[in-house]
Amino acid sequence: MNVLRLALLVLFLVSSLVEAVEKPFNFDETPGKLPKEVVPTEYAVRLVPKLDNFTFAGSETVKLNVRSPVHQLVLNGLELKIEAASVDGKKLPLSSMKTENEKELLTLTLPSELAAGDHTLTLRFTGKINQQGQGLFYMRYQEQGSGTRKVMLGTQFEATDARRFLPCWDEPAFRARFQLTVVVPENWLAVSNMPIESEQKVAGGKEVRFASTPPMSSYLNVFVAGELDSIESRVGPTQTRVIATKGKAELGRYALEASAEILKYYNDYFGVPYPLPKLDQIAIPGGFGGAMENWGGITYYESALLFDPKSSSAETKQDIYEVLAHEMAHMWFGDLVTMAWWDNLWLNEGFASWMGSKCTAHFNPQWEVWLARELPRDPTRRTGIAKEAAMEGDARSTTHPIQQRIETEAEANNAFDDITYKKGQSFLRMLESFLGEDIFRDGIRRYIDAHKYSNTTTADLWNALSEASNKSVGEIAAGWTEQPGFPVVNVKRETDGKVLLTQERFTVNFKSALPSLWQIPLTYSVVGETPATLLMTDKTASLENIPADRALKLNVNGAGNYRVEYDASSWQLLLKALPKLGVEDRVNLMSDAWALVQAGRAPISLYFGLIEKLPASTDLAEREQMIEVFEFINRLLIGSPACEAFQQYARSLLRPTFAALKWDSKPEEPLNAGKLRASLISALGHLNDPEIIADCRKRFEKYVADPSSLSPDLRAPVLAAVGHYADEKTWNKLHQFGLKTTSSEEKQNYYNALASAIDPKLVKKTLAIALTDELPTSRAVFLVSRVARESGHPEVAWQFAKANMKALLAKVDAAGANRYAPSLFTFFSNDSRADELRNYAKKNLPQSTAPEVAKVLDEIQFRAEFRGRLVSQFPPLIRSGTK
Ligand SMILES: [Zn+2]
Repeated sequence: MNVLRLALLVLFLVSSLVEAVEKPFNFDETPGKLPKEVVPTEYAVRLVPKLDNFTFAGSETVKLNVRSPVHQLVLNGLELKIEAASVDGKKLPLSSMKTENEKELLTLTLPSELAAGDHTLTLRFTGKINQQGQGLFYMRYQEQGSGTRKVMLGTQFEATDARRFLPCWDEPAFRARFQLTVVVPENWLAVSNMPIESEQKVAGGKEVRFASTPPMSSYLNVFVAGELDSIESRVGPTQTRVIATKGKAELGRYALEASAEILKYYNDYFGVPYPLPKLDQIAIPGGFGGAMENWGGITYYESALLFDPKSSSAETKQDIYEVLAHEMAHMWFGDLVTMAWWDNLWLNEGFASWMGSKCTAHFNPQWEVWLARELPRDPTRRTGIAKEAAMEGDARSTTHPIQQRIETEAEANNAFDDITYKKGQSFLRMLESFLGEDIFRDGIRRYIDAHKYSNTTTADLWNALSEASNKSVGEIAAGWTEQPGFPVVNVKRETDGKVLLTQERFTVNFKSALPSLWQIPLTYSVVGETPATLLMTDKTASLENIPADRALKLNVNGAGNYRVEYDASSWQLLLKALPKLGVEDRVNLMSDAWALVQAGRAPISLYFGLIEKLPASTDLAEREQMIEVFEFINRLLIGSPACEAFQQYARSLLRPTFAALKWDSKPEEPLNAGKLRASLISALGHLNDPEIIADCRKRFEKYVADPSSLSPDLRAPVLAAVGHYADEKTWNKLHQFGLKTTSSEEKQNYYNALASAIDPKLVKKTLAIALTDELPTSRAVFLVSRVARESGHPEVAWQFAKANMKALLAKVDAAGANRYAPSLFTFFSNDSRADELRNYAKKNLPQSTAPEVAKVLDEIQFRAEFRGRLVSQFPPLIRSGTK
């Protein structure tokens, strides 16, 4: 072998190694459908919505930078009709335009080659104003005070629906400036990313012209308009506002104050101050159920932003803060610096979830943010502590790596899942605690500064963190972001103070998982002593000098994204040391024990043996972990002879805490007592506690006469318990209240209560509401999911959905489209339903739903197996209950 050949071979080997890991952002190599020869730099768009028939007419001028000569312009467009086009002022014949709806592309064939350099494309088009939150959509709502039915407009573009609003290069790497002009009725307020530059009267209303945005991705555009009010403030050079429908803006006071605090924190943390002149938080009464980080104009479903001190619960307040902190983190991570392609969506979502929680915890330590149970608005999503929800999904065969290949638009919409958000968040938290808070922040500052107004891949983030820390962050991270799953660390005491640690992949209902290895940033402590760290890079590792009679706890504070399985002697020592552990460590042991039971690695008595030994406490996170498990088992056992015995056992464990708290709040009680009281009432209600149910009914009667008699924190659980066991008269009363209120939060409480009813006749009455416009579209469809979960009659919910699927899907937004139908099977636990779903999907659902169908099939199979196991383990479980 001569030297040259050897050199070539080495070069080849090195380059193929580099191939395996992701590269930093490079525009030309970024995935996507659109050719990269033509790049838009500036859009000027004028739009005239027509409210009488829910269509719009638009025109746009796009400045193009042609990088190399082309014969065609290829851009995105969907459900738009192009009426005229010209390039550099020369009209194109209509025959030169091809729209391909299935590819969501618009191709303009040019009469002659377009030379490299600057050009201008002009288009005239018409489009549709949708009922569901996709592209430009309308919302009908009841006005505050008068209750009059009104209509307003909003947009929702992420992931790939800007192309329903204007023909554009609708992939995140194509950054451009956008300047929007709209015509709206004269008494409307119009809002977009940037401040209004000018307004003038025109026929049919007023023309509002907004200032041009900085270069940004198309999916971050926003346009909201209606009879709106606002309140405002200022943080340094930034105007901050909360905008809501008329009469509701003052309910944004809490959000306005919180957003000022958050904005200052982020300006400092990121090192680059918020770059736009204004930042609006916009409450919209429908369209979608969450929030969207449009740059400078964040949209929220109303109850995620508005807080009424008279009627909103403590839970709502915390929710608002967390959502604000998440969305505002996106102003940097997502908007100023954007992932190059949807395969790196986690860069946006994992990061914003982590940053939002970090910021929320910083200002509100009493909320125990990292341990707090999340209540997703979509009742089919996993609840629980964010990290736990992600780990539950990640243990299954249907999981995927944080970074995943995304080819199509539908796949991009599938990427918005727990792995992207919550595993991403959990991994970043583990990495931060390993690198150190200050070093991690320095790395983030480098990253933001180096990539502002541009796009990135995960490699860019690891490079910045490596520079800041002098550690090979990319190597540590690869196992967590590029391969699916996570490890369990097995702890085995040996002689002479030696402890052997062994890692393997942790799985649930997934026997054929391939072996994998992680670089685990382990933390451990001999209980009572200072924690230590160890980067576990191999299958095994060992700890030395651990006293044989002292408890050893791994994963200190539960900050790591792994499970721990202790040998019997270590477990016994931990059980004895429980009172000396902090709440984070106790909750971590509970979560791990429950996961080991789910995985079939331990009998249910491991978990119950642990919670029976917990010291008496009114700590929220600890009790909520139990409640979460009890609710799961309770739903799983419905209809089984073991159910009643289980309910009795579970009540016996929760009752003492409720007895300590009682119904009414006291001035000296812990800050979280209100939330815990609410959780306990709701759980005991589900567990058929006759005393709680009778008390809920009594309090509901009083509430009917005098709403102020029931504390806002207790309204949701009391209404739910009353609804669960409602007769027709009570159901009607709840329904009347729901119809009347103009508060989104209260309305949701009433309709949730209706959806809890277990009487089959009432179940049908509730389901029918999903087809009406009593609720905003996104909430109406989830009424069916809630019935499936809460009523104990998932089959009735499914029969209804099957018969009305078309009407229901018309109300589902892009993010929910693939998930909706399969998710309704989540609450079944018999194999015949798995066959039914398989057949239904084959005949009725598009290929893009396949990953969701697979997840639900796995869930049904798991539930069936686990149900059998629980029932068979039941007698010992009850014995362990009689201490
Ligand atoms: Zn987000």
